[in-house]
Parts: sequence; structure tokens; C-alpha cells
Amino acid sequence: MRLRAHHLLCLQGFRGLGYDERFVLVTQEVLEILRINPSLHVKLVDEPDILCAACPHHRRGLCTRNGPNTEERVRWQDREILKLLGLENGCEATFSWLLKTVGNKIASNDLDRLCTNCQWYSLGYCWEGIASLRDQA
Ligand code: SF4
Repeated sequence: MRLRAHHLLCLQGFRGLGYDERFVLVTQEVLEILRINPSLHVKLVDEPDILCAACPHHRRGLCTRNGPNTEERVRWQDREILKLLGLENGCEATFSWLLKTVGNKIASNDLDRLCTNCQWYSLGYCWEGIASLRDQA
């Protein structure tokens, strides 16, 4: 499976909220596949993925959520997260290893720096999910 790097963090806070019904359904399916198969290899990238393909803000291969330049900002966010994880764009690892690495390497102030433009960030769900990975790491 191929995921935008920042979606690895978003998935930790997913509680059924999303841009529309289709997006929520696809996100639930992706999470279920990953939960059932933690040894599945995930390729982390800085470009649109399976979740973007189901998103109403995805147009012609680009994220347009906050206007025409959004994709550039989202790619920056993906690359910053890859850096924090110590990984390269296009790297592959098992989902379980990636969860452990997120738990070990992502701190709450990283989310403050990278995710404040997200409409769900202030709910705190993502950090709660990541903090529970830290407890397990
Ligand atoms: S808002 Fe942008 S980055 Fe997020 S899922 Fe939609 S297209 Fe992808």
C-alpha cells in the first residue's frame, strides 16, 4: 500500500470524521486492512495516495483543499514527517514497524509545527492516537 507520509499520522487520530462519506468509508477500509495485516508493506510518499483518490479536494493529481497551491504545502508536510521518522521518500516498511517508529519519533510539538492548518487538529485526536503508540513503544 502507498500512503502520503502525513496520512500515517492522520490515521492514528481517525474517528470517522472526513471530507465526505466516500472519503470516510475508504479511510475506514484502509485502516481495517492495515489493522488486520500489520505486516503489510507500506510505501511512504510525498504525493497523492489512496486516501487522496477518494477525497473531494483531489483534482488532477493535486490536493486543492486550501486553494491551488495546497499540494506544495502538503508535500512539504510529508517531507518533514519523513525527516522526523528518519526515512526517505518512497521507502517501504511494515505497518507495524512504522507505528513503532511514529511512537518513538513524533512529539506533540511536531504536530503543533506541521498540522495546525488541519481542521481536525484542535480536536486532539491525532495526538491521542500517537501518544498511545508512544506508550506501547
Ligand atoms: S485534503 Fe488533500 S492531502 Fe488530504 S486527503 Fe484530500 S487531497 Fe489528500
